Amino acid sequence: MNAVQKLINKLHQHLGNISLLTGDNIGEKYAVDFTGENYQPPLAVIRPKTTEEVSLALKTCSALSQRVVIQGGLTGLAGGATPKPNEVAISLEQLSGIEEIDTTSMTLTALAGTPLQTIQEAAENAGLMFPLDYGARGSCQIGGAIATNAGGNQVIRFGMTRNLVLGLEAVLADGTIVSSMNKMLKNNSGYDLKQLFIGTEGTLGIVTRAVLRLYHSLPSRCTSLCTVQTFSQSVELLRETQKKLGTSLSAYEVMWAPYFERVINHVENLQSPFAENYPLYVLIETEGSDQESDSTKFEEMLEAALENKTIQDAVVAQSEKDRQDFWDIRDGVGEITQALMPYASLDISMDIANMPKFLEDFDRSLSKTFPQALNLVFGHLGDNNLHLFVTTQREQDINEIYSIGYKLTGKYEGAITAEHGVGELKRSYLHHSRTPEEIDLMRRLKKTLDPEGILNMGRVIPD
Ligand SMILES: Cc1cc2nc3c(=O)[nH]c(=O)nc-3n(C[C@H](O)[C@H](O)[C@H](O)COP(=O)(O)OP(=O)(O)OC[C@H]3O[C@@H](n4cnc5c(N)ncnc54)[C@H](O)[C@@H]3O)c2cc1C
Repeated sequence: MNAVQKLINKLHQHLGNISLLTGDNIGEKYAVDFTGENYQPPLAVIRPKTTEEVSLALKTCSALSQRVVIQGGLTGLAGGATPKPNEVAISLEQLSGIEEIDTTSMTLTALAGTPLQTIQEAAENAGLMFPLDYGARGSCQIGGAIATNAGGNQVIRFGMTRNLVLGLEAVLADGTIVSSMNKMLKNNSGYDLKQLFIGTEGTLGIVTRAVLRLYHSLPSRCTSLCTVQTFSQSVELLRETQKKLGTSLSAYEVMWAPYFERVINHVENLQSPFAENYPLYVLIETEGSDQESDSTKFEEMLEAALENKTIQDAVVAQSEKDRQDFWDIRDGVGEITQALMPYASLDISMDIANMPKFLEDFDRSLSKTFPQALNLVFGHLGDNNLHLFVTTQREQDINEIYSIGYKLTGKYEGAITAEHGVGELKRSYLHHSRTPEEIDLMRRLKKTLDPEGILNMGRVIPD
């Protein structure tokens, strides 16, 4: 009997009725996350249905010194859920369901494997709203969103996932269940332990349940696509919008011309609403409680910006279809990237003041090494977050492009990842954004919570 067969026999023996996939029953989906990189089937897939089953699975793997990779919806973009050789996967897909919607506390309690969209719909059916939203909503799980501290489309207003989690339950590597299912906004009684598991990408424990914060949905919405000549005008417009429209601002997305034009020219049924081309395009969206007065304020703000020449042109959505057309340009990235493969995808953040210098420096360094490189940039500017898709269409250039990009991110005191996480693919670049002391503290925390080193090893923390 070989070592893998011995392990599987032991897992069967200890796990009893817990679902265990082995051999040909392990589907391809468990072998790689959304990046498609480093395809590696796990030795087995454990699929617990309850927190107690997660605990037993981890106790068993701990006792066997068996390394484990945690898998949510596998929509991650950092390689964190992709198995490494000789790992067993613990998939949260069967630990799914909404346990409670409390309209008095304005909270929703869900199991970690519940898809984000299911949570959004349940909140909506209760007349409320869960504001976390992004393209992977149908497949990603709330546990994965918590583990990666996902951002998305409304961060400027509601913050990242971290701001939406009130309580959390997690299981440590040795099987200990730590339950802090708090519903209160204020709780300063000791360490806020849930933060150990939010954004730490499964390196310190498995998230099993969460209490999420709900909001009232707002009936009015204003959306505009504007054009500006310079980056500083886009910042000026952001600050004016914040000053005049306050917290109703729910999205502020900036697209540089090469990105905008690529999407317009390559995605079917999309066209620019402008007769001319401009260096930058800005999508602004607000949400409020009264459509008539909100629209008046929104249009007054745009008129003032046109008058003082902060913007050159603007179109305001007159219907849900117009709004969708604007967002389709912003979201067109999903459709154009397939044709650009292979490409480097950078998701960085930095002080807005440093962005123009960073972008100039990056373009200069890129064109020195790769004169033929195409660099498409857009960003959630209000969240300090830029997305860059860079391609020479040659696989062998990708690592060098990342190296150039992350080194400059460090030079301008930015973060090598704003929302997608470090996972396995970015951990060797972490030193560009974190000091040796910070990385050492990460190692010490990891050692304390996972002394045997079984949980998501080789992710986030550099070797
Ligand atoms: C089309 C598309 C659009 C996206 N848009 C955005 C965006 O706008 N903003 C953004 O922030 N991200 C975005 N993402 C990436 C985002 O990080 C993931 O979609 C999501 O947060 C991960 O959830 P998942 O359940 O798929 O986790 P997985 O991919 O399965 O796992 C991601 C990481 O979390 C760990 N993990 C998963 N579940 C748990 C758990 N229960 N406990 C502990 N650790 C766990 C895994 O080990 C892995 O390290 C996008 C992805 C796609 C494909």
